[in-house]
Amino acid sequence: MHVCAGCSCLCDDIEVEIRDGSVSKVYNACRRGAGIFLNTGSSRAEPKIDGDNADFEKAVKGAQEIIQSSDSLVIYGLDTVTLEAQELAIKLAEKKEAYIDDNSTFCLGDFVEMILRKDIPSTTLEEVKNNAYVIFYWGTDPYHSLSRHLSRYTYYPRGGKRQRGYEEDRFLVVLDVRKTHTAKLAKKNARFLKVDSDEEVMRGFIDALEGRSPKVFQKDIPRILKEMEKGGFNVIFGGLGLKYGLKGDYSILKEMIRKMNERSEVYFIPAGCHPNMRGFNELLFEKTGYVNKYSFKDQTSSDEFAFHRLLEDGKVDAALIIGSDPLNSLPLQYARKLADINTVVVDPRETFTGKIAKVVLPSSIAGIEGGGTMIGADGTRIRLKPVFEREINDEYVLKRLLEVI
Ligand code: SF4
Repeated sequence: MHVCAGCSCLCDDIEVEIRDGSVSKVYNACRRGAGIFLNTGSSRAEPKIDGDNADFEKAVKGAQEIIQSSDSLVIYGLDTVTLEAQELAIKLAEKKEAYIDDNSTFCLGDFVEMILRKDIPSTTLEEVKNNAYVIFYWGTDPYHSLSRHLSRYTYYPRGGKRQRGYEEDRFLVVLDVRKTHTAKLAKKNARFLKVDSDEEVMRGFIDALEGRSPKVFQKDIPRILKEMEKGGFNVIFGGLGLKYGLKGDYSILKEMIRKMNERSEVYFIPAGCHPNMRGFNELLFEKTGYVNKYSFKDQTSSDEFAFHRLLEDGKVDAALIIGSDPLNSLPLQYARKLADINTVVVDPRETFTGKIAKVVLPSSIAGIEGGGTMIGADGTRIRLKPVFEREINDEYVLKRLLEVI
């Protein structure tokens, strides 16, 4: 069995068939996961200097020179690479007194930080499968973003105390601004709440818990709370819609979860996509007490040190991008600034950012061509079981870059 590192579910039941040295069949994975295994050989990055193919050693030298001569370096990406590679990147940032940031600044880093600070209780997907009765999906559409979440880990599987099937033994609550595909599953033993304001809905839950009539969803909220008491063990999966709906103020979310826990057990798990985003957050938190946008020079985290802000404010002269494609994912006005500074890209695949980088260093695909460890969105550590072994991986490249510092 292999592990798919296609998203933060990190499914560990993947089986493959190999023919002529490549993966010819994949079992158990979703379409995205299967695609990663089946297309291992396509769009692979080549070592490059200034856009031209180069010898790997020359490209390493070029990258070493950029890192060595930089007075203000940022390291960015890292959510698709292993803990072992992330650790080396953090070490490099520390030695260079550099900035370090990942996608969690835009994504669900705030939720992970609340869990690590023990502001909100969390649990694992295994516990959810075995115990959870009311399952909230709040501001997230796992039907698309985390394809096996519902089928393997939460709503549909039977497990532990939940043996009678989802129509009797689970209660699904989907909250979103529109009727998503996940919301369409909310039929029997379920509720879909179309949200205008997340804060208003949370206030409604708090009002009902304190014996007042909620101002919104007057029938649905009391029914959901009754089901939660009946089930005893409940979970909220919070996604990007929830994060942006709350506009950075999570006090009401914490208050609602605290109040809910006076009646039944209620846990929160981030519903994020990047396979090892939580791993990066945990490692940086252990080292610095912060989960992202950190400056080793200033010894603190700040919005000013978010990757896009550093580019916007012209604070960096070099960028080391590992396992990420900011030119494809960030607004163009920030991302195009990468072309004005010395950018080094480390990635197994060709990327848009690689096309404007000074140096490109190819690496291996985590989980397929290299082992190591990742941490899923629920905090579970998973050992990767690669199909092939490739000598040049993120760890190897980062060790080479560390040689000159
Ligand atoms: S749900 Fe995620 S981890 Fe599981 S097979 Fe699909 S992409 Fe891979």
